Amino acid sequence: MPDLQRIIDNIHAELLPQLGTGKVADYIPELAKVNPHRFGIAVATVGGGSYFAGDAGEPFSIQSISKVFSLTLALGKHGDALWSRVGREPSGSSFNSIVQLEHESGVPRNPFINAGAIVVCDAILAGHRPREAIGEILRFVRSVADDDTIAIDPAVAQSEQKTGFRNVALASYMRSFGNLLHPVELTLGVYFHQCAISMTCRQLARAGLFLANGGHMPQTGLTVVSRDRARRICALMLMCGHYDGSGDFAFRVGLPGKSGVGGGILAVAPGQASVAVWSPGLDEHGNSQLGTRALQLLAERTGWSIFG
Ligand code: GLN
Repeated sequence: MPDLQRIIDNIHAELLPQLGTGKVADYIPELAKVNPHRFGIAVATVGGGSYFAGDAGEPFSIQSISKVFSLTLALGKHGDALWSRVGREPSGSSFNSIVQLEHESGVPRNPFINAGAIVVCDAILAGHRPREAIGEILRFVRSVADDDTIAIDPAVAQSEQKTGFRNVALASYMRSFGNLLHPVELTLGVYFHQCAISMTCRQLARAGLFLANGGHMPQTGLTVVSRDRARRICALMLMCGHYDGSGDFAFRVGLPGKSGVGGGILAVAPGQASVAVWSPGLDEHGNSQLGTRALQLLAERTGWSIFG
């Protein structure tokens, strides 16, 4: 095993002068308040090691990284039937794009673009009230992170509820095709709260360990999903986890990853480790600029890659 603490300390120190590059997401007013000069890295290995650098203990809004957890939950509830409502193809469009929905009759390309994640929330909502569905998602995240202190930031959820007109449009459009089974405001209530979960890099790295470890949590021995399902979730992360920047991320980092507009990225090195990075400055696709650089350096220096 490489000297992970030294590697991430060096990456942190080397990239620190670039802190503040990129643009903080401001279309969600509450996120615009975040200090752009933040940078954290956490690595949790399947063997039980944990390594941190920088602001790895500071909570941030995980935003779209939550889509990995809600997809896992929805697949557990509905199995492969979920795939009749959402596809498994990269979109090549921005995370909040509506253009493909018309051509594809309201069935979103994949579960990680906003439209797809809204359908996944609608599937989790089946048979529940929104409050119960939100509770179920939060409990799931807490259980895979093995940490009951993880919470939703209500100010972020409300901020998005007030300004998330694009998501209202996406949800309404899908409802017109019959691919949303609940009233738009109820499904979006679940979606906005899921995106508003706050976590630290340390918590997030732990929460991703089941994906790095064939579906089992190494911390507790619990099986979260089958090995096949863990592989498939990772396949979707690789192809769709960074929207129209997914190809570039695969090229530079070579690991499955999921980004969020809060500036976080969760990456999985199968059989090795789960990695969380956070820096709020985003590139033109809405992915953390410094976070991606950090993961690229980490992959180079550890040799971690799914391509051998
Ligand atoms: N909550 C955000 C939205 O719906 C999530 C987007 C993201 O993180 N890419 O716009």
